[in-house]
Amino acid sequence: MKILIVGAGFSGAVLARELAETNKHTILVIDERNHIAGNCFTKRDENTQVMEHIYGPHIFNTSNKDVWEYVQKFSKFRPYVNRVKAITDKGIFSLPLNLLTINSFFGKTFNPREAFQYVQSLSDTTIVEPQNFEEQALFLMGRDLYENFFKGYTIKQWGVNPNQLPASILKRLPIRFNYDDNYYNTIYQGIPEDGYTTLIDRMLQHPNITVQLNTSYTSDWNVDFDYIFYSGPIDAYYHHSEGRLGYRTILFDKEVYDGEDYQGNAVLNYCSASVPYTRVHEHKHFTPWEKHNKSIYLTEFSKETDTTDTPYYPKRLQNDIEVLHKYQKLAQNESNITFIGRLGTYRYLDMHHVIGEALELSKCFKLHSGDYATFQRFINEPS
Ligand code: UDP
Repeated sequence: MKILIVGAGFSGAVLARELAETNKHTILVIDERNHIAGNCFTKRDENTQVMEHIYGPHIFNTSNKDVWEYVQKFSKFRPYVNRVKAITDKGIFSLPLNLLTINSFFGKTFNPREAFQYVQSLSDTTIVEPQNFEEQALFLMGRDLYENFFKGYTIKQWGVNPNQLPASILKRLPIRFNYDDNYYNTIYQGIPEDGYTTLIDRMLQHPNITVQLNTSYTSDWNVDFDYIFYSGPIDAYYHHSEGRLGYRTILFDKEVYDGEDYQGNAVLNYCSASVPYTRVHEHKHFTPWEKHNKSIYLTEFSKETDTTDTPYYPKRLQNDIEVLHKYQKLAQNESNITFIGRLGTYRYLDMHHVIGEALELSKCFKLHSGDYATFQRFINEPS
């Protein structure tokens, strides 16, 4: 079978590799950019030789053992724990909210039980079942913590009032009543030693895979292929016929620092609405095993996506979900295309999610080999 994969990010690369290994398919991976690895693209900065995460910080973390073992096949991972600091109007604190954050923010010396009871006492008891981001925050932590750590940052990040956003966004971050300041709750965490581009390049190195960069998808491609996996934005695939889905994009101001350490940590979040940016990341801290005399730091700004911007974050507001359902209906009627990844399925997925889904999808594709209509129906069922 001839398979076309649109997009050389994690979704496309994992699928390409898995299907190539069957020796039953030849696979062409196309990408409109001039590089592989999608938004995980890493490249050494020419001036400092620091490994730069060109589209923003990517820290690999997962609780899925299969996914963790799978990525190790293509790269050595170095241990790395993301420990974020948050700058608020009341000072600088550890994030996610943990016992140190709670004690230093409120000037207390609580033990875990006392801190839990105290934070519980701050909860807005008028909220029974939180319906959105803001209610979830007020329910979990009360107004003071919400307004200092989350409200301003979230308005900057998403461009809307947090009461329009789903509660699931806040649930990405843990609240802990111990001194564990690991940003993630996942079991496995690390950074690929030679960067994500090398890892994905190794995935794509297979005799049955060809990669073609600087190549945009058009429907003209369809005639030459038996099946297509499409990881671009689903609304762009349908030429926005049902309307545009909302995405946020991020922009970076990059600076070189003529010293060893600009800010002392990989990521500093700026939570106050009065600061125009959301985060500053200093990329050398993502590779603590390397030595560099100079440093680079990137200031991150978030904004609405214009037609020429790279979409990063699916907003998934009420109206977006209605539009998405229309696209999902169209997708269900397709006979030889499956939409994959963060943009193809319009979901806020992390690297480990898309790898897990691509592995499952490839298993399923192998199972239904030849019966693409069944595979298609099974996969494109709206969730
Ligand atoms: N968030 C916040 N303040 C912070 C960090 C995160 O309000 O200092 C909120 C914000 O709405 C963000 C969400 O929590 O979009 C999820 O944060 P995460 O760090 O997972 O976002 P990502 O790394 O995907 O940008």
